[in-house]
Amino acid sequence: MANYYNENTVLWLDGKLLKASATKVDLYSQSLHYGYAVFEGIRSYRTAAGTTKIFKPVEHYVRLANSAKALNMPYGYSTDQLIEATYQVLERNNLRDAYIRPVVYSPANMSFNPNTESYTVIQAWEMAPFLGEKLLRVMTSSFQRPNPKGFKIEAKASGHYVNSILASQEAKAQGYDEALLTDINGFIAEGPGANMFFEKDGRLFTPATGNILPGITRATVLEICREYDIPVEEGQFTPGQLKTADAAFFCGTAAEVIGWASIDEYRFPKPWPATLGRKIQSAYKDIVTEKQHQPETITI
Ligand code: PMP
Repeated sequence: MANYYNENTVLWLDGKLLKASATKVDLYSQSLHYGYAVFEGIRSYRTAAGTTKIFKPVEHYVRLANSAKALNMPYGYSTDQLIEATYQVLERNNLRDAYIRPVVYSPANMSFNPNTESYTVIQAWEMAPFLGEKLLRVMTSSFQRPNPKGFKIEAKASGHYVNSILASQEAKAQGYDEALLTDINGFIAEGPGANMFFEKDGRLFTPATGNILPGITRATVLEICREYDIPVEEGQFTPGQLKTADAAFFCGTAAEVIGWASIDEYRFPKPWPATLGRKIQSAYKDIVTEKQHQPETITI
């Protein structure tokens, strides 16, 4: 297990900066018993100028508020308050390249009735930027993403992640690096914790929203594509179509942009350094670290 905190770690809990080791969760919490909580995964980066910047904090906290609303959970803070609190957590823990985990959870309640209050915690730990050129061997999961008629699929709800855990563990048990889940109609959807794109004949394709978590990194990739005039199509694509693609990649806050070597038995033929994904990976890195990037030097 990773070291998420030690005796010096400080977290923010409903307006107070507290020692992580001195806080406890209510074992009667509705969140623990039923997976009824919402959360975010955010990153901060040491910028090229040497400052510490949270990437797209407004987008993440707006999504957190929307997730809470989708689940009928009380939500007591403004986006500005939570961004300010997050910078305090980073500063108090001396963190620069960090992963930030806000969670909104419920009090003791064994019924299915709504609550009049929620708790909000912000935790953070060090996470170095992704360096890798290591490509992933991905497996089409036997698990599908949750039915959007059974869940608020656009919300980042804790309970949804049982599905992610099942899929990821299945793929790893079979010797793969990660899973790709389909939607309830069998179209490709997303990874357990990341969205995906594939490249075919100089164009990118990505599953449309509706059966996926609409990722903030996915939105950033779409912005990069607009800036670089890379044609992208959002739609419904089959696993068979994916197995005729030139290349593919995952994108997400934690994963950043990471290329695939293969899906099941199919190896993507285009060398990663020559792919659109590789160009997007380096543009993404420049954006999060606020380094000047020059779209005109990108040739497709
Ligand atoms: N899909 C799922 C299921 C996820 O958990 C994540 C990570 N939050 C993503 C996609 C990517 O979202 P984002 O780019 O906002 O991190």
